[in-house]
Amino acid sequence: MELITLDLEQSFGDLNEAVLVTNPERTIVFANKAFERLLRVGQDDLIGNTTRRFFADPAQFDRMAELYHRPEDQRHRKLYPIEAVLGDGTHKQLEVVSAPLFDRSRRMCGLLFLAHDVSDRTKLENQLSEIVVTFEDALDAILEGFAIYDSEDRLVLCNDTYREIYEASAPAMFPGNRFEDILRFGLSHDQYDTGLMDNEAWLAERLKQHQAADGQILEQQLDNGRWLRISETRTSTGGIVGIRADITELKQAKALAEKAYQNLHLMADSISACVGEVNLEGKCLFLNKTGCEWFNGRSEDLLGTRLREKLPWKERDAISSLFKQAINGQKASEEVGLNFPDGVFRECQVDCNPRFNDEGNVDGLVVLISDITNRKKTERTLAELYAITSTRELGHEDKIAEILRLGCEHFDLPVGIISRVFNETYTITHAQSPGNVVTPGQSFELKDTYCTLTLQADEPIATAHAAESEFAGHPCYELFGVETYIGAPLLVDGVVHGTINFTAQEIRKRPFTSADVQIIRQFADWIGHEIARQRDHQALMDAKIRMERIASIDDLTQIFNRRAFLEHAEREIQRFRRSKTAFVAVMMDIDRFKNINDLHGHAAGDEVLQLFARTISNELRSTDVFGRVGGEEFCLILSDTDLQEALHVCERLRKRIVYGCQLEQVEQTVTCSMGLALSTREDVAFSSLMQKADTALYEAKTTGRNKCVVYAPAPDAVSA
Ligand code: GH3
Ligand code: MG
Ligand code: MG
Repeated sequence: MELITLDLEQSFGDLNEAVLVTNPERTIVFANKAFERLLRVGQDDLIGNTTRRFFADPAQFDRMAELYHRPEDQRHRKLYPIEAVLGDGTHKQLEVVSAPLFDRSRRMCGLLFLAHDVSDRTKLENQLSEIVVTFEDALDAILEGFAIYDSEDRLVLCNDTYREIYEASAPAMFPGNRFEDILRFGLSHDQYDTGLMDNEAWLAERLKQHQAADGQILEQQLDNGRWLRISETRTSTGGIVGIRADITELKQAKALAEKAYQNLHLMADSISACVGEVNLEGKCLFLNKTGCEWFNGRSEDLLGTRLREKLPWKERDAISSLFKQAINGQKASEEVGLNFPDGVFRECQVDCNPRFNDEGNVDGLVVLISDITNRKKTERTLAELYAITSTRELGHEDKIAEILRLGCEHFDLPVGIISRVFNETYTITHAQSPGNVVTPGQSFELKDTYCTLTLQADEPIATAHAAESEFAGHPCYELFGVETYIGAPLLVDGVVHGTINFTAQEIRKRPFTSADVQIIRQFADWIGHEIARQRDHQALMDAKIRMERIASIDDLTQIFNRRAFLEHAEREIQRFRRSKTAFVAVMMDIDRFKNINDLHGHAAGDEVLQLFARTISNELRSTDVFGRVGGEEFCLILSDTDLQEALHVCERLRKRIVYGCQLEQVEQTVTCSMGLALSTREDVAFSSLMQKADTALYEAKTTGRNKCVVYAPAPDAVSA
C-alpha cells in the first residue's frame, strides 16, 4: 500500500513542526515546508532520496536501519539526537522523534520523523555543564565532603574532600555507582569503625539512616580513628545530598572538656565546702555533694531552683547583695551566718565569682560557701581562753570554773569535769553540769571512766558517737551510756594529775576536729600549769609564813622579837591615830638579872627569861602585843586600855612574876620593874611613847625595883 502524499500534505503541510515521512526502505516520500526550512533543502533534493545525506555521522544512519524492525519496537515512538548536515553544508543539532506508520491491515508502511532544532538547548546544556564544572570546583574548594546521589541512589558527583575523607572507598566513587556499593567497597577496605556491629548489621543501619535523609546529624567513626559529622537531605528530585565534616578535633576537644568537667565535678564533690553554679536569674545549674547535703536535697531536685530561697528570709539579703556585685563583674565575698535546710547553723565565708562568656559578659556565677564555723569558734575560744587566763580579776578557782564553762560552750557539751586520778580512783575536783548534778568530791573507779583510755593514750582522745567506735565496749558506755567524750590528760610538773573532759549523753552532730583536740590540749596545758603554779604558790606561802615566823619570833622566848614587836607597835600607833582609842605601852626589866647569870650561869639566866616570857604571855589577851626588846627587857602593849586599867593589869603581872617565876636552883626572887605610858596625840611614832615608858621604868628602878610606875610628864611640860 502506497503512502498517499496528498493526505500527508494535508496533514502536515502547514505545520510549524518539521515533518518528514519515509517508506520502510527509508526513501523520503514527504517533507513539509518547515522541514525544508530547517534542513535548508528543496523538495527536489528530498523526495525519492534516503535520509543518509543528513547524517554527519553516516554510521548513525546505518545503525538506525533497524529502527522498527522488531514488532515490539513498533509500538513505541523513539527519540534520538543527530548532528545533521544541512543543505548549505553547515551542521545543526537536531532532536528527532520517530514513529512508525501503519496501513489498514496494520502493517508498517512508513516512518514519520519530527525534527527539532536543539542547538540552543545544547548550548544551554553546555553552559549548564560548565556551571556544573564550576560547581564541582567550588565543591572541591569547600572543606566539607560533599556528595549527591540520584533518586536511584547512584553517585552523581562528589568533591575531592569527600574522596579524601573516605580514602579507602575513593576508587568506588565514580558517578553512577550505587551508594550501597560504595559502602560495601569501603567496608571491605576497612574504611569504617563498625564498633561491635558486624559489617552487614552496620551496613543495614547506615543505609537506613541514609535513606531517611532527614537532615539529622549523624556521627560516624572511621577505622583510622577520625570522626565525621554527616548530614543527609533529600533533594526535590528525589536524590540525596550528603555533607560530611571532619569533627575529630572537635570530638577530642569535647572529650577532653567532658573529662575535665567530670574531674571538676569529682573535685567539687570531694570538697567539704558547698560549690554551686547559678545563672543570671539565680537558678542553680550545678551543686556539689556537700551543697546537696547542706540544702538537704537531691541534686536533680535542687537544680533549676533558687537555693537562696531555701534560706531564712533574713539571711537572703546578704547573699543577694553578693550576687549583685558578682553579676556586675566583681568578685565578692563576705562572712555570713546561715541556717541551712539540713538544720545546721553554719558561719560561712561566701565567695561569688562572675563567670564570663566568650563575649566577656557575665553569664552566671560560681558560688563557693565554706563552713568557717569551727575556725571562728576556735578563734573566739582561744581569745576567751587568753582573756580568762590573763586577767587578774579572777582567782585560781574562778579561772578553772571559767575554763570548764568555756569548754562546755566551745564543744557544745553539757558536762565539763576536772578530775584527780590517784591510786586508780577518779575523783572529781571541779565540775560544770546542768543543775550541778556532777559535783566535786564524787569518786569512781578509774577503769569505769573513759579517762582511763585518755591516760593510756597519753594524749587527747575524742568520740562523737561512742556506739560506733571502740568506746562502745568500754564500761563507761555500758554504765553511763556516754555517747560524746573529749578528754585530755592533766599533767602537773610532768606527772599525771588527772584529766579534763567534756561529755554528753547524746551523739554530737559534728565530729570533733583537730582544732578541737588542740583546744582541749590548750585547756589541759593551762590547767596543769595553773595547778602547778597554785601548788608552788602554796609552798611559797608556807615558806613565807615560816620565814616570817622565824624573822619575827624570838628564838629563846618564842614571843615577838624586837623588830616584829616594833612593827606591831607602829601599827597600834597608826590605829590609835585613826580611832583615837588610847592604849598603854609598858616597859619591863628583870631586876638584878646580872646576879642570876653571875651566880647560876648563863643557862639558868636563859631559863629565867623563858619562864618570864611564858608567865606574862599566859596572862595576856589575844589583842595585847608582847615582845622581847632587849636582853632582859620586854615591852607590852595593852590595847584599848586606859592608865587605870593598865596599872591594874601590870600590878597583877608583877605579882605573878614574884610568885610564879622562880627556879629551884635560884635563890634570888625573880622580880621585875615596869614603866607605863599612855598614848597621846603627840605620839606620832611609837618610839616617843616607848621613851616615856622607859622613863617611868627608870624611875621604878631607882625607887626600889619590883614596882610599876606610870609615866608622868615633867611639871613644866604639864603646865605647858
Ligand atoms: P637592874 O636591876 O639594874 O636591871 O640590874 P641588872 O643586873 O638586871 O641589869 P644589867 O643591865 O646590869 O644586867 C643585865 C644583864 O642581862 C647583862 C647581861 O649579861 C644579861 N643578859 C642579857 N641578855 C641575856 C641573855 O640572853 N641570857 C642571859 N643569861 N643573860 C643575858
Ligand atoms: Mg636591863
Ligand atoms: Mg635588869
